[in-house]
Amino acid sequence: MLDGIYKENQTLMMLDEPTFLERYILSSVRYESELHNHTVVHSDASVLPDDEVKALETRSNHIAQYGARPDNYEITYIMHNQQPWAKRSDKPCLVTYNPISEIDDEKVIERRWFQHIVHDVRHVAWLVPLFRFIQGKRRSWHCGAHTLINSQETAFVTGLAAARQIGADYPFEDPEARKMFNYYGRVMYGWRFRKARGSA
Ligand SMILES: Cc1cc2nc3c(=O)[nH]c(=O)nc-3n(C[C@H](O)[C@H](O)[C@H](O)COP(=O)(O)OP(=O)(O)OC[C@H]3O[C@@H](n4cnc5c(N)ncnc54)[C@H](O)[C@@H]3O)c2cc1C
Repeated sequence: MLDGIYKENQTLMMLDEPTFLERYILSSVRYESELHNHTVVHSDASVLPDDEVKALETRSNHIAQYGARPDNYEITYIMHNQQPWAKRSDKPCLVTYNPISEIDDEKVIERRWFQHIVHDVRHVAWLVPLFRFIQGKRRSWHCGAHTLINSQETAFVTGLAAARQIGADYPFEDPEARKMFNYYGRVMYGWRFRKARGSA
């Protein structure tokens, strides 16, 4: 099984008679339930300030802090300034995450609720290094941002690394990228990592 689903409680349910370590690691991954679980795709520019910065035309995102805690923030991704495909629309193309502002229902395209992983110091310093001890056990491999660092790039690398461990070739030529791939692979798997080798 190759698991990259980012919900380790679900992965645990899929395993037939998990070992103590599988049960411990997979059930220790925590998810936010209170904040950061709601995203709205919309075209309501009233969530952005109407000031001299002109965020709607110039910025890739806007963050509005609303409370005392550091994670009390609403963030709006201004997609038409970030992505060429979003420039084709004659309306603002916005994604507001953790919304506190009123968003006009008429301008909402979609709402999504999700669980976001708690990628805190405990997760990175304690759980991530433990994953290597369950990798490949009983033909199960784990990949995804929760097995390394929370970013799109490293999540992708973890998938490549799992494929490499199963026997796939590393598919890219760039020597710098290969160097980073081997570095992350060692972080994930230790000495058991099958390094990518190349001519360049
Ligand atoms: C709002 C937001 C903004 C972000 N911005 C950035 C950014 O700017 N740059 C950056 O690098 N990172 C960013 N991140 C983090 C980044 O998106 C994640 O680290 C990355 O997407 C994790 O990739 P993943 O493959 O591990 O998990 P996911 O992308 O979550 O993929 C897991 C997949 O598994 C599927 N799945 C779940 N359960 C099951 C099941 N039971 N069966 C089958 N499939 C299932 C899900 O539908 C999903 O498609 C952001 C995250 C959020 C939430």
